[in-house]
Amino acid sequence: MAIRSFAKNSYRSILKWGDPHHFEEPKKRLIKYLKKNMGVTEEDFKNPHLPGLDKVKLDKLPALPESDISALKGIVGQGNVDTSDYERVKHSLGFTYLDIVKLRLEKVEPLVDVVVYPRNEDDVIAVVKFCNERKIALIPFGGRSSVTRGLEPIKGGISLDLTRHMNQVKKVNEINCSVTVEPGIIGPAYEDYLNNYKTPLSPGGYTNGHFPQSFEYSTVGGWVVTRGAGGLSTGYGKIEDMVLGLRFVTPQGLIVTKDFPRAATGPDLRHLVMGSEGTLGVLTEVTLKIWKFQPENRVYFSFLFKDWEECVISMREIMQGGFGFPHMFRISDPEETSIAFVTEGISDTPIDKGLKMLGYKDGKRCLMLGSIEGDKDAGHLIKKKAKAIAKKHGAISFFGSIAVKAWYKHRYNDPYLREELMDIKVMTDTLETACTWEDIPRLWAGVKKVVKARPSSICMVHASHCYENGANLYFIFISRMKPDDMIDDFEKYHTSIINAIEQFGGGLSHPHGIGRMMAPWYEEYMGETSMNLLRAIKAYLDPNNIMNPGGTLGLDFTGERRKAFSAK
Ligand SMILES: Cc1cc2nc3c(=O)[nH]c(=O)nc-3n(C[C@H](O)[C@H](O)[C@H](O)COP(=O)(O)OP(=O)(O)OC[C@H]3O[C@@H](n4cnc5c(N)ncnc54)[C@H](O)[C@@H]3O)c2cc1C
Repeated sequence: MAIRSFAKNSYRSILKWGDPHHFEEPKKRLIKYLKKNMGVTEEDFKNPHLPGLDKVKLDKLPALPESDISALKGIVGQGNVDTSDYERVKHSLGFTYLDIVKLRLEKVEPLVDVVVYPRNEDDVIAVVKFCNERKIALIPFGGRSSVTRGLEPIKGGISLDLTRHMNQVKKVNEINCSVTVEPGIIGPAYEDYLNNYKTPLSPGGYTNGHFPQSFEYSTVGGWVVTRGAGGLSTGYGKIEDMVLGLRFVTPQGLIVTKDFPRAATGPDLRHLVMGSEGTLGVLTEVTLKIWKFQPENRVYFSFLFKDWEECVISMREIMQGGFGFPHMFRISDPEETSIAFVTEGISDTPIDKGLKMLGYKDGKRCLMLGSIEGDKDAGHLIKKKAKAIAKKHGAISFFGSIAVKAWYKHRYNDPYLREELMDIKVMTDTLETACTWEDIPRLWAGVKKVVKARPSSICMVHASHCYENGANLYFIFISRMKPDDMIDDFEKYHTSIINAIEQFGGGLSHPHGIGRMMAPWYEEYMGETSMNLLRAIKAYLDPNNIMNPGGTLGLDFTGERRKAFSAK
């Protein structure tokens, strides 16, 4: 039973994902599965493990002198500076697994000294200038959904929270099909605004096209600076495909790029901002592409394959078919498919028996789901072509549009399960890598073997962001926690998985960024010259290293590789 009641100012209220009133309990079928396969007991349910129910209380005062705090109040206004224990804790971490462990242990360190809420770009310029002069660390703060230790204030300082005031849509340009927006707007507010922007040019309004699983609690600014990818990215593109122009405040001055769709004006500085993860400056405005919103035109498909190999080949052929792309497009490996059959109640039914007789066997079969948005005729054409390719590779249509419609409906729900599982001492986390088509089979098998080498572990894998030349692989790993050794045990396991991704040819990150978590691998991934270039840019734009310092992107990383950071 979910812990539904906890104090507003408790650690639990910070570690709980998303809408405070939304709880997602593991379905009975999943509980049965966990009991059978992972040794979860009734006792685990009766005694939630380190639930973090105490009120946040710190014994450390802010390290910044009162004179600095007063100066900040002078810049942004008295009410826009907060030094309360609760806000300092809340602004000192994101949703990385280790962040949640710290909250459960009720030991959060390091801490920001003060939270500042700028009202506009002028405030941001003034705060950046002040911090630069006083050499105070400054960490831009969006939705707090970082899963790479991106918000950890290694050097204390100021958390610059952009969500309170800098959260407005500034302009929709229907002729150019673009929107200009402030960085602190969160997903639903942004999408609702566009959906409701109904005019004769687009009676159904517009859509932003970017829907990460963290959509409900992440910001446009965070999406841009971490190079995020949403669930419909195969059709609409990754966030870096959507950004037209931006405004970026650095300690060295303001960078403004123009909104042209393409240009040949030297290196594209937008790409320096996209991926900068708070280390070079603060994104204060961004202009992005938008699309006509026509959900009534959505076309859906879902297929079941006999095995993973044919499923991957079909996905590749669909992406390379030259007839356009689905918007949502994903395939699940045999383990993910098997667990979906269990949790959706299909296992051991007459349908399941019939499928097995036809050769779609549990432990081998794989699901492919897709949808196409926009023009209906184009949608039907893509579906027809995709179906022909899938059929050629032995697939059958499976539950028509039901499975994909269910995906749309529940697409933001799974993260709510994490605290429920951690309550019963089940560790669950994800790693996502980019991969070329030719490497997918080897990478999938190699990483999976490492994840599964840990006893009683689950490793569900899917590809859900696809390109002509490759796709992502998203590894969800679930295992029993070691309750007395939560940090070291997790770090060892996690490190072994990242090493395996590197060994089998995967990219270091597909949409989550680098943060502090992947930084120890980053230098080798980039190469010495590239890393020196990035460090030179950092040294120019942020000479006093005030912007999100302490290891993000490995820019001020000087220690021995992989040992320089400690989560403890
Ligand atoms: C449950 C869950 C599901 C997720 N699913 C996805 C997914 O499907 N796709 C995906 O891409 N990611 C996903 N993520 C990761 C995360 O949501 C993204 O990295 C997101 O883009 C971060 O946005 P945010 O507003 O929460 O940023 P924050 O977490 O607040 O900040 C992230 C980083 O960006 C910097 N930053 C934030 N705003 C600015 C700004 N205006 N200027 C300069 N720097 C800034 C911060 O300093 C920090 O380094 C998921 C995370 C969770 C917890």
